[in-house]
Amino acid sequence: MEKSLSSLAADSDYDPNSMPVDKAREYIRAFLTPLSATERLHIRAALGRVLAQDILSTMNVPLNDNSAMDGYAVRFADLQSDAEVTLTVVGASFAGKPFSGVAAPGHAVRIMTGGVLPAGCDTVVMQERVTVSGDRVTIPGGQQKAQNVRYAGDDIKQDAVVFERGQILRPAELGMIASLGIGEISVYRKLRVAFFSTGDELAAIGQTLSTGQLYDSNRYTIHGMLTRLGVEPMDMGAIRDDPAAIEAAFIEASRAADVVITSGGVSVGEADFVKQILQRLGEVLFWKIAMKPGRPLAYGKIGGAHFFGLPGNPVSAMVTFYQFVREALLILAGVPDPRPLPMLKAVCTTPIKKAPGRTEFQRGILAQERDGQWTVRVTGNQGSAILSSMSQANCFIVLPDAQGNTPAGATVDVELLEGLI
Ligand code: AMP
Ligand code: MG
Repeated sequence: MEKSLSSLAADSDYDPNSMPVDKAREYIRAFLTPLSATERLHIRAALGRVLAQDILSTMNVPLNDNSAMDGYAVRFADLQSDAEVTLTVVGASFAGKPFSGVAAPGHAVRIMTGGVLPAGCDTVVMQERVTVSGDRVTIPGGQQKAQNVRYAGDDIKQDAVVFERGQILRPAELGMIASLGIGEISVYRKLRVAFFSTGDELAAIGQTLSTGQLYDSNRYTIHGMLTRLGVEPMDMGAIRDDPAAIEAAFIEASRAADVVITSGGVSVGEADFVKQILQRLGEVLFWKIAMKPGRPLAYGKIGGAHFFGLPGNPVSAMVTFYQFVREALLILAGVPDPRPLPMLKAVCTTPIKKAPGRTEFQRGILAQERDGQWTVRVTGNQGSAILSSMSQANCFIVLPDAQGNTPAGATVDVELLEGLI
């Protein structure tokens, strides 16, 4: 039976007003039930999708022992370790046109890359190493047994579980499935994610701004992040800070989608009326996360849909998306154990001011110095409304809870933002 969100309050260390990042992730994970609906697709249409079946190999790839080089297939027993030998060339094996005979002692077969290793042969000598005269080929001493041979099943063994359900399909996986002769596969249907912005100050692109207004940018960053993740984004617009309008938007979004994401409206002062609406519609928790940026976060269920209420500040919305929503959406989409964003250590060339007690995600620029060393520096103004800091960054500099000020030259953890699927 699914745990109820309200049961969290019984946990001894549950404190909605000071929720460590890891704890919040852990709580969210406990409530995620992956999609089960599947569809069949040709691999050509399956890039970025999540496998809903295991892929088993019914064959070896490659199917036959074959040559890794252009040259001559020989019997190693015919060769000398310290002297050349001359063999008779009795035929050829080209990729797709095998030699049908058997190489007897003293025989060699002309072979090209991918050509099936002829019966009787066990070694390939590169053409650059040999001397040819008519149908005679002279092989120098010093060859290694089995050199330049690729064996059947070197890439994929017959009866192997090649991929398990839950695998995200990248170009290499599509190619491997094709190499098994499989065209149609079963994938989970795309996760439907509805999102809307909240705020009386938001204007839509195309409108003229009046004093105090700003254009709604979060909907476009969220649209981009969702698209990158391979889910189906459903843009439900910007909603005024009006209880009836917000309630209607939540009802519509939770009926239409598997997940509802909002930005704005969950910070202190604003949360109260949103809280009341969500209490009526579902079960939602409002947390103050011990992190910067991105302190307020709401998480819960509205009807059958999962709900993430992100902060309105543009950087906070992106940081909380990457720290909480990304992993959750992947799990919901059928990936049981999503790979975290790659983390590495780098020397930080700028000093960073920080108070202990919260995790900070500073926007960083990771770059390779002339001496080959990777270093990172902060992007400049780290304000949670400075969206250009996210644009300049290629990583987060992750400073853990206990950490205080960091001097220039300190080694820091860096979470890569490049190459997100
Ligand atoms: P809120 O979380 O609603 O209190 O908003 C915090 C800050 O983020 C305010 O300065 C808002 O104007 C700004 N903000 C909220 N939503 C958006 C949005 N969709 N695009 C850009 N800025 C926003
Ligand atoms: Mg607001």
